[in-house]
Amino acid sequence: MSRDQPRLAVLGLWHETNTFCLQGTDLAAFEREGILRGEAIWDAHASAHTTLAGFWRAGRRLGAELVPLVHASAVPSGMVARDAFEMLAAEMIRQLRALGPWDGVLLAQHGAAVAEGCPDVDGELVERVRAVVGPGVPIGLALDLHANVSARMVEGSTVTVIYRTNPHVDPDLRGEECAELIVRTVRGEVRPVQALCQVPVAIDITRHATAESPMRELLASLDEVLARPGILSASIAEGYPWSDVPEMGMSCLVVSDGDPALARSAAGSLAREMWSRRGDMLTLAMPPDEALLAAAARAPGPSLVLDVGDNIGGGAPGDSTVLLEAAIRLGIQGVLVVLVDPNAVAACEAAGVGGTVGLAVGGRLDPRFCAPVEVVGRVLALSDGRYEDASPTHGGQRFFDAGPTAAIATTDEHTIVLTSRAVLPSSLEQLRSLGLRPEDHPVLTAKGVVSPRAAYEQVTRASFVADTAGVTAAQLTGLPYRFRRRPLFPFELGFDAWPEGRERT
Ligand SMILES: [Zn+2]
Repeated sequence: MSRDQPRLAVLGLWHETNTFCLQGTDLAAFEREGILRGEAIWDAHASAHTTLAGFWRAGRRLGAELVPLVHASAVPSGMVARDAFEMLAAEMIRQLRALGPWDGVLLAQHGAAVAEGCPDVDGELVERVRAVVGPGVPIGLALDLHANVSARMVEGSTVTVIYRTNPHVDPDLRGEECAELIVRTVRGEVRPVQALCQVPVAIDITRHATAESPMRELLASLDEVLARPGILSASIAEGYPWSDVPEMGMSCLVVSDGDPALARSAAGSLAREMWSRRGDMLTLAMPPDEALLAAAARAPGPSLVLDVGDNIGGGAPGDSTVLLEAAIRLGIQGVLVVLVDPNAVAACEAAGVGGTVGLAVGGRLDPRFCAPVEVVGRVLALSDGRYEDASPTHGGQRFFDAGPTAAIATTDEHTIVLTSRAVLPSSLEQLRSLGLRPEDHPVLTAKGVVSPRAAYEQVTRASFVADTAGVTAAQLTGLPYRFRRRPLFPFELGFDAWPEGRERT
């Protein structure tokens, strides 16, 4: 090992856990999405725009030897099975021990992973890594903007860096920043000191876009902090609201060069500003009926209604019928809905294209929020559910696979796309690959808040955010939280403004 050419281990466990979702995340879910080992990590990421790509680039640029060990990720969904977490963590720790010693460690994680009996997976993993490498080896932790940052994550790491954009277009830049700070620490050029402030606010999902208020103003303040002498890095985390854990909520984190008081005071000033803007962090979503009526009134359309409560990218199942039921009840015509329902697809396959079907669709994966809806219709199309989109969609995904898929036109003039699996609604090719023209439908619906916009808003004239019930509901106060911190805006209102001295390091 040499300080000039430091040798760094690269690993991580990546999950955004919706603890209200009934569908848990087992080892098979990680195996399906990707458990990458060794060079396969670089094969998948070196040319991408991920945190890991940023690590790789910094390593090349700075002459560090980066050794990829294990990286496991799964799509957002319910609680991680304890045995899955323990098996993955054990493999990571085994590799870390076997291939050491190390000059440093780089962790690429999301920061909102929850396992059964282990509410802070990210903090737990950082602690286990720290126990192997000892107190003198710097650990860099790069997190998603939706991280629920815990004191354990920050105490166990040397440098924590969080994305600054939503939609997330800077993961590689933050990975690079994190890796560079670790290399400089190994070389003795900097001495990072971190200060974390957990702000007693949960920002509504409809206020997360960083180009819009209040995040835009908060990030401008963050830029001012970053420009101060002695500051190495600074971050604001929006948090992930559907993890029922004590660290759920917003936070800010400042890394100074050897000056704990500077880090604390900068983090404290950011935290107070976040608190002062809490009035701009409440929901912009409308009641579902209102959103549908407003969209239908924009005829000839198409307009977009965003189904916040069944946000596939946020871990929801994708079969909610709340909007379909409302459209039928309100007598609105020409609504397009995509639902996960493999049994309904099979019924359509049996009827064949042009055949007539009578079905109860969707509404089965979480009976707390909706029920199947009876429809009668004609099968318009059948497909294997695979489609490709080479345009820059949210998250950059190109190849999609929703499993066997059908489209039906109902007798009350709605179009229902039935899929076998939930896929991020980030591409209009999902509709076009079935021969549907999204431009022709008065009201399009999509199961997400931010992820559908880049694609759908190419053809829609207006968007309406529907505050539908579900495990990703905008109205957090309706969900059965047990473990979140208290007091926390907007659950508790009227408690005192940010008190002095709340800063934690
Ligand atoms: Zn995120």
